[in-house]
Amino acid sequence: MFIAVGVFLYGDFRPLTLLGLDSGSSGWAPMVGQRSAPTPGRDEGPEPLGAPAPLTELSSSYVFLHSNKGMPVSYSPCRPIHYVVNAEAAPPGSSALVEAAVRRISEASGFRFVFDGHVDERPAMDRSSFQPDRYGNMWAPVLISWTDPETVPQLSGDTVGIGGSTRVKHSSGHVGYVSGQVSLDAPQVRKIIRTTAGSARAIAIILHELAHVLGLGHVPDPSQLMFEHGTPLRDFGPGDLTGLARLAEAPCTRML
Ligand SMILES: [Zn+2]
Repeated sequence: MFIAVGVFLYGDFRPLTLLGLDSGSSGWAPMVGQRSAPTPGRDEGPEPLGAPAPLTELSSSYVFLHSNKGMPVSYSPCRPIHYVVNAEAAPPGSSALVEAAVRRISEASGFRFVFDGHVDERPAMDRSSFQPDRYGNMWAPVLISWTDPETVPQLSGDTVGIGGSTRVKHSSGHVGYVSGQVSLDAPQVRKIIRTTAGSARAIAIILHELAHVLGLGHVPDPSQLMFEHGTPLRDFGPGDLTGLARLAEAPCTRML
């Protein structure tokens, strides 16, 4: 039984300026109404579906967005993370950018991602993590949206992307992520991919947001992709990789 759902927390990313602190709320809201969650344990296997890439350098330069009982809040590594894409406003070549970022974070973390197709669902701060009419008896897939500041006000100014996940607390006390969102400022990314090494820059932005989805927060260390201000990095640093590997140590759970 689920007793509460964590209010969605966005991370933001402003690679073009020296701004970029996370914003958003992180309180608990009661789950009310009729059926508010899918049948627990869907897709859950007996062991993790993958393993993070071996760490060549350990680093403590990472933080988790949420912790519970001394452990980072994470997705279960024993089931795939389903995702869908709203590409209505996508720049040309966007599929390859998303695929490259998903492939990289999957390799780095060991989490397995499954693309469930394109959708017309729009991003929303109060997006429901369970939408049986749209997605059936499963947690809503992570929604990656190519959108704009008119639709997602958090993308106004220099913020190019935001990302985060919704956590659910089971009556046993277990807390886990079950769904999430990445919203990308399509007009800004369109400009970025026209610059030198623009595709690599765009992939790095998506990677940063996907790392928020998995549970990493910002660090005050410019040698990590999760640096709180803009970064010229194109890939994860040792702290990012160590943090992702720790997220992958989460237990399998059939409770959620
Ligand atoms: Zn961020």
